[in-house]
Amino acid sequence: MYRKRILILGSTGSIGRQTLDIVQNHPDKLVVAGLAANHNWRLLAEQAEQFAVTDVAVADERAAGELRDVAAALEVYAGPDGLDNLVRNSRPDLVVAAISGVAGLVPVMTALEQRCDVALANKEPLVAAGELVTTAARRAGAQLLPIDSEISAVFQCMQGEQPSSIEKVLLTASGGPFASYTKEQLSAVTANQALKHPTWQMGPKVTVDSATLMNKGFEIFELKWLFGLEFDQIEVVIHHQSIIHSLVQFRDGSLLAQLGLPDMRLPIQYALFYPERVPSDLERPDLAATGSLTFAAPDTDKFPCLRLAYQAGRSGQSYPAVLNAADEIAVKLFLASKIGFADMARFIDQALQEHEPHPIGDLADVQAADTWAREYVTALAANRR
Ligand code: NDP
Repeated sequence: MYRKRILILGSTGSIGRQTLDIVQNHPDKLVVAGLAANHNWRLLAEQAEQFAVTDVAVADERAAGELRDVAAALEVYAGPDGLDNLVRNSRPDLVVAAISGVAGLVPVMTALEQRCDVALANKEPLVAAGELVTTAARRAGAQLLPIDSEISAVFQCMQGEQPSSIEKVLLTASGGPFASYTKEQLSAVTANQALKHPTWQMGPKVTVDSATLMNKGFEIFELKWLFGLEFDQIEVVIHHQSIIHSLVQFRDGSLLAQLGLPDMRLPIQYALFYPERVPSDLERPDLAATGSLTFAAPDTDKFPCLRLAYQAGRSGQSYPAVLNAADEIAVKLFLASKIGFADMARFIDQALQEHEPHPIGDLADVQAADTWAREYVTALAANRR
């Protein structure tokens, strides 16, 4: 029987490792076509051996050299074109985009140009370049399948429905670890505290983005581009239990929701096998034991990143690319304890205010906005010290 060839970009990360768990559970249906990481060549080597993979990419040249030294039989693509070369040469049926940050944009575009379907966990490409990505998919006739749990929830609710029948989407947010903090308490939050998410185990960048609500801001871009929604049709609702992964309100007034425990393997599996639903032994929710499900409006005064995301999205042009890049640098500086929690939103806001927008016609336009924002926020932080 034919096995679907899966290429995992970011295989050493949280989503990448969970994707491999699913492949391992379905050896008769899935096979790994290739793996890619940034630095972690040791884990990549173990994964390549375990899944009998011959083609891998390691973005960091030094790490790629180390890997070549220990695994001579592997085809190791390295450097700036390494990911692209892996996508072109490993003949995948489906690329799982699980790199963190906008670094995943170019290989996603390459996969789409190759008419390959893409399962997207990596949300930053849709923030920075949503129109380019969705246009490339449409032109190639390739599918973009969401992995992000909230977006998968909407995708699942939309099966058999027309996008035009959506009135709005209620996008749920756990609220992160600091939902009940005052503004004063938030200003003293450390990186270690921010890395402890109450309901999800994720990589560091997306965990911090969850704590600031920027992650929710990024998800409104995913919804906009994957379902053709206006920003006004997307309403964020704080739902601490992370059981309802999002809801779609249709124009007849019906609300459909998708529920599940907070476990990314469910939406990953759905994307890998779409449109088939295959059995899984993942734990089932016990609603009686859960008791109550709560909902509240987000506080954008305490968590301004959500407001900034709507603002950048509505302004369009190069603003979303600036939002994304400013956030990547701000999170990096916060994780290195160089700036405070509240500084992240402040710096991103300042970058958006100072940016001279330009239209986005191609990847070079995205790159120009991205570079400007990275330099701007880096300089802001340096001048403050
Ligand atoms: P992690 O930080 O755990 O993993 C990131 C992966 O990307 C690692 O394999 C890393 O390699 C690799 N990587 C980073 N930069 C590069 C690069 N320049 N070239 C090649 N590989 C690179 O992140 P997550 O798995 O948590 O998140 C991945 C994406 O999925 C993010 O966009 C996130 O927002 C999204 N997402 C994640 C969820 C989750 O539950 N984790 C939920 C929904 C969405 P190395 O290990 O070598 O550094």
